[in-house]
Parts: sequence; structure tokens; C-alpha cells
Amino acid sequence: MTESYQPETLAVRAGTVRSQFGEHSEALFLTSSFVFESAAQAAARFIGEEPGNIYSRFTNPTVTMFEERLAALEGAEQCVATASGMSAILACVMGVLKAGDHIVASVSLFGSTVNLFNNVIKKFGVETTYVSATIVAEWQAAVRANTRLFFLETPSNPLTEISDIAAISVIAKSCGALLAVDNCFCTPILQRPLALGADIVIHSATKYIDGQGRVLGGAVLGSRKNMESVYGFLRTTGPTMSAFNAWIFLKGLETLKLRMDAHSAGSLELATWLEAQPNVARVFYPGLPSHPQHELAMRQQKSGGGIVAFEVKGGKEAAWRVIDNTKMLSITANLGDTRTTICHSASTTHARISPEARLAAGISDGLIRIGVGLEAVIDIQNDLARGL
Ligand SMILES: *Cc1c(COP(=O)(O)O)cnc(C)c1O
Repeated sequence: MTESYQPETLAVRAGTVRSQFGEHSEALFLTSSFVFESAAQAAARFIGEEPGNIYSRFTNPTVTMFEERLAALEGAEQCVATASGMSAILACVMGVLKAGDHIVASVSLFGSTVNLFNNVIKKFGVETTYVSATIVAEWQAAVRANTRLFFLETPSNPLTEISDIAAISVIAKSCGALLAVDNCFCTPILQRPLALGADIVIHSATKYIDGQGRVLGGAVLGSRKNMESVYGFLRTTGPTMSAFNAWIFLKGLETLKLRMDAHSAGSLELATWLEAQPNVARVFYPGLPSHPQHELAMRQQKSGGGIVAFEVKGGKEAAWRVIDNTKMLSITANLGDTRTTICHSASTTHARISPEARLAAGISDGLIRIGVGLEAVIDIQNDLARGL
């Protein structure tokens, strides 16, 4: 399907290939390998002379349908599906970098991404310099002769800082580096990084693409040229997406537009209400006019997304009181679910960072992060009001 279709159409139609049985809903191909009609056909498939499936670590028809659909939504030439969001990031860096290369990354990254950069790929001779998510000049200043990759996530977790994708992509291009954007929080429904100048898009499909908290998966998207080595790494090493999970994600994509619009609308309503609460010191939500980068967010994203953070007056004690007085909200660090989630960032997702570094990053002891689900906003408000 071409890009001339609207996103909601692509989300339900793109990538579908029917088998000989003419099924309407996409088939789930639970098979590890594929058979050939002859020895000659097997040989032609293995040397790449004839396209077709060989083994599900290489390709699987259900996974391919998911890849084609997500690629259409992101406007990417190619999508490579992975077992999780983290294996997408691993495949990206292992695919495009070599020993001696340098990464410039936003300091406001998902915790496991920081671990991957600091403790795993560093062992293989790739160094990372961290810079502000929001101050564009810091990206330029951190560039070295061997810088090959810029990596960011916007909006960031939990403070919803916005990185200017277009401005940072200009710097990346000028120094010959690729810009990779983790688009997990927005999904292609709210933000399309490639159209803004990024080279690579990363997804944790575990979050909004599934949308119902069931399975893990991820994806790397970009040009055929950039995806060649990413796919090569994956095909050889094996953290590929399972066919079952791809089938779940195909169903998830079909409702993604409806869900993202609802997550955003609910979040804006909740954030506006939180701002009016006397015991709330500050609310962080890109859709609020009070957000320091509201204008950039509204230019770069279709709407604010589903993550709202707020600071309760009274520090950790007060924040824990709000969390412990909820009856409905799920106390969990996950997000992108139909069910609203609540967590205390300083003692969970950011607990391993030193208190000084945490404060420097703006994550105070009173900070609470809400992953706004699809319940009625009034019920979420009532659940929070008890502890506030
Ligand atoms: C969850 C998450 C990841 C990692 O994804 P997994 O599917 O858990 O491996 C990466 N980036 C962001 C922004 C995330 O929220």
C-alpha cells in the first residue's frame, strides 16, 4: 500500500498478504521452517536468487505483515521487527556502529538503554557522551571526529521533555552521524521522526503498539541501506520477533489511532485537573500551555500523548501516600496500557541513579508518573484525589 492512504487506513490494511485460503484477518504462521518444492528451489532460496521464506529466524509471513504495516505508518523503506524494545536498540547499535565509534545521546533515556550503552557496548569499544534532551547546542558541542550515532527519546520519561528532532537532525547530518529516535511514547500516530529528518526510528512495541500489556516486541525502521546491517545482525544472532507476538501487534495497530487519540484526550483532561489541585506543585505534560516546550511539542507531535508526570508537595512521603491511597490505578512501571498505571519514579525506574544525579535531572522525590489508560478520567481523578 502506498503512503497516500491516511494513517488509520494504513493501520488496518497495510501489509496484509492473504494465503491460498483467502482469510480476511491476517493468518498466524506458527512454523519454525518452510519447505521447498525441490532441491533446486532450496538452493535458489538460500543464495537469495529466489525470494521466499526459509526459517523463521530470517523471515516469517506474520512478522513480515507487521513489519510492512509499521513501515507504512512511519513512512520507512524498511522495518526490522525484534523480540523486545531493548533488542531493537541493541540491533540498531550493533548494526550501524563498530569499535571506535562514538554516540551522542540524550541524558533523558530509558534506564535499560543507558545500561546498554554504558555497560554492554562500551565493552566493544563504543563510547557514549550524554547531553541535554532540550539544549540543541550541547549536541553540536559533544561531536567528535568518530561520532557516528545520535540517539534520543522524545517526549522523555518521566518529565516529558521534548527534543527538537528537526534541529538535532541538521547537526547529525553535518557531522555524518545517523539520528535514531526512540518513538515509543508517541507512536507514528502522533509523531513521525523520519519526516522530521531522523534516519532511524526505534520502537518498544510492548507499550502502545500492543496497547493492552500482553507481549514484548520491538522494531527498527529506516532506509534499506541503513537496515541492511541491522537485519543482518538480527538474522545471525536471533532476537527476532515471534510470529505470535507479531499477530498480536497487527491487531494492536488496527486500533492504535483510536487509542492514541483517547490516551491524549484523557491525559490533557487529567493534567489540567492536576494543575488545579492545591497539593500539586507542578505538572509535566506537553499538551499543557504551561509546559516549557509546549509550542515545539505541538509542532512536532499531533497531541500530547499518554504520559503525565506531577510533583506532589511534601516529597516522597506525600507521593507514596497518593499512590497507596489509590484503589483502581495499577502500581507498576509499565505504560501504554488500557489500564492507567502509576509509579514513583525516584524509588522505581530511577532508583539506581544517585540522589544528586536524580535531582540534577529534575526527578524530585515528590514526582509521580501516570501512564494514562482508557478508563473514564473522572474515575482516575477520584482515585488520585483520595491521597491528594
Ligand atoms: C519500554 C521501553 C523500552 C524497552 O522496551 P522493551 O520492550 O521493554 O524491551 C525502550 N524505550 C522506551 C522509551 C521504553 O519505554
